[in-house]
Amino acid sequence: MDPVRLALTMGLVRAFGLDEAVDLRGAKPVGDSTLRLVHRQDYVAAVRAASANPRAADQDYGLGTVDDPAFAGMHEASALIAGLSVGAAEAVWRGETAHAVNFTGGLHHAMPGAAAGFCIYNDPALAIARLLELGAERVAYVDVDVHHGDGVQAAFWEDPRVLTISLHEHPRTLFPQTGWPEETGSGAGEGSAVNLALPAGTGDAGWLRAFHAVVPELLADFRPQVLVTQHGADTHFEDPLAHLAVSLDAQRAVMESCHELAHTHAEGGRWVALGGGGYAVVDVVPRSWTHLVGIAAHAPVDPESVVPPSWRDLVYARTRQLGPGRMTDGRTPSWQSWEDGYDPADRLDQAVIATRKAAFPLRGLLA
Ligand SMILES: [Zn+2]
Ligand SMILES: [Zn+2]
Repeated sequence: MDPVRLALTMGLVRAFGLDEAVDLRGAKPVGDSTLRLVHRQDYVAAVRAASANPRAADQDYGLGTVDDPAFAGMHEASALIAGLSVGAAEAVWRGETAHAVNFTGGLHHAMPGAAAGFCIYNDPALAIARLLELGAERVAYVDVDVHHGDGVQAAFWEDPRVLTISLHEHPRTLFPQTGWPEETGSGAGEGSAVNLALPAGTGDAGWLRAFHAVVPELLADFRPQVLVTQHGADTHFEDPLAHLAVSLDAQRAVMESCHELAHTHAEGGRWVALGGGGYAVVDVVPRSWTHLVGIAAHAPVDPESVVPPSWRDLVYARTRQLGPGRMTDGRTPSWQSWEDGYDPADRLDQAVIATRKAAFPLRGLLA
């Protein structure tokens, strides 16, 4: 979670001049009244205490642990990231812009009462909760990070106003060991959580096939007022923490699909796109999220583009590594449509079938 990934992403966005194509805005850190929409008051107090005195971090709240080390100012930094996502959601809700991106956000593992998986405050959940507070009645959340979007799912587990869809590597082989297809929400929220657990090793064709076999149909039926998406770049084959084998080009294809789905199914094309995980901090994350910014800005970066040399100089200065040379991995992603049939003996198809069987009938859709 080296913060250099954010500096390098912003550097690449600027190197392509995309900062001129968007309205670049700051935001205020979220205050207590917003934090309370998702997080427990005693947890926020524990984060503040750890922020003031990292040595006093309370491990019962997941703070001061290997995954979530305490550091001075952690409350302020985490509240600012959340504020950017909340600000993005507000701007989109009010129609100031159709799309907004916060690539510093997407911290989807934070729980209402605990830090988890490098995440302190759950900015996607806070952005969604703020939309509900503003009057939204249907918000869809699509999470394509390699890890399950467990904190967002937990925040809206019983809330039918929020449809959470997470595609991720199977919990058998990856943190946080949740995101089974049978997790579908409860109470009034029964059927409002959808999980697609992909076999380790899934590559471009399988990942795209799975996405298109599940996401568009759910969004077409749900007709969200806002689409919130999380674009963790850790699905990539170079990512050191997980075991999918997705290319930059397939990540970009899913971003384009999310953009199209927002225009087709979300009211006014409202789309809030967030970052997320991603631990190949030089080779993958900056290129992936620069594509995201370009797509959301309606100024997409051509995958064949050469990476500006000024940015490679920045990479070397900050990391002593040589940055990638082009905005593509050289793949041309394609996939076979689910409507054309499936193979019950295929592991990927089994994963899709499990998800459709568990979740679709609860939404009145055919499995
Ligand atoms: Zn658009
Ligand atoms: Zn992740």
